[in-house]
Amino acid sequence: MAWFSFNSLKLIVIGALISAGLITAGCQTTTAGGEVGVDRRQFLLVSSEQAEAGAAQFYAQEMQKFSSKGALNVNPQQTARVREIASRLIAQVGAFRPDARNWKWEVNVINSKELNAYCAAGGKIAVYSGLIDSLHLSDDEIAAVMGHEIAHALREHTREAMSEAVAQQVGVSVLASLAGLGQGATSLLSAATDVAIGLPFSRQKEREADEIGVELMARAAYDPRSAVTVWRKMISGGGGRPPEILSTHPDPANRIKDIESHLPRVIPLYEATKRTGRK
Ligand SMILES: [Zn+2]
Repeated sequence: MAWFSFNSLKLIVIGALISAGLITAGCQTTTAGGEVGVDRRQFLLVSSEQAEAGAAQFYAQEMQKFSSKGALNVNPQQTARVREIASRLIAQVGAFRPDARNWKWEVNVINSKELNAYCAAGGKIAVYSGLIDSLHLSDDEIAAVMGHEIAHALREHTREAMSEAVAQQVGVSVLASLAGLGQGATSLLSAATDVAIGLPFSRQKEREADEIGVELMARAAYDPRSAVTVWRKMISGGGGRPPEILSTHPDPANRIKDIESHLPRVIPLYEATKRTGRK
C-alpha cells in the first residue's frame, strides 16, 4: 500500500475512534513546567479517563491479590511511615497540576522481598517492603523513589504509552477490523493498556520523572540529593540480586549523572522549605 493512502486510512480510523468517543486526539502537555522546566508536548490519543480506568482496575486486582495472601500493609509502622511521606509529596503536586490534588490517591505497602515501587495513573501508589528493608532507605530516599513514581503519574506517561500503542496498532492491524469498528476499537484499547502497563518507559519519560521527582521532594522538604544516594544503593543491590525496579529503570549510572545536573535548580527550593519548616 502506498504511503499516502496508508496514512489517510490511519487518519480515518483515528477519526472514527474519536467520534465513537473512545479516544481523544491532541498534542498538549499534562503538567506545568515547574522550576525544572519540563514542557515537552505529548502525543495523547487515549483519554485520561481511559488510562485511569485501566490503572484502577490493575491496581485493585494487585491489592486484592496481595491482601488475600496476607501481604498487604503487614507492618503498621512501615505503612504509616510510607503514607506520611506520600502525603507530604502529594501536598505539593499542585505545583505541576492543581487537578491532581483531587485525585483518589491510594498508598499501600506490599509485603514482599521484591525491590519495587510504582504509582499507576490517577495516583495509585504501591511500595514493596523489600525496597525499604533491603536497601535500608531513609525517609528522604523513600521520598525520592515515590517522588519519581508520582511524577510519572502527573505526566500521564502511561496514557501517553497507551496512545503510542494505539497509534502503532492502528498502523499495523486495525485495517482488518474497519467493518466492525466498535468491537475492534474496544479490544484495541484493552490491548494497548496491556502493552503500556508493565513496559519500561522511554528514557525521555524517565528523565522527566527524575526532574519532576526531585522538585516534588524539595518542595516537600526532603533532601533531593537523596535521589542520587538511592540509585547508588540500587546499583549495589540488596542481598545480591538486582532490584526488580531496575528492569523498568535501566542504566542507573547515567540516571545519576542526569539527576546531579538537575540538583542545582531544586536545592534552593529545598533550603527554603527547610528554613521555613514547611512540610
Ligand atoms: Zn521511572
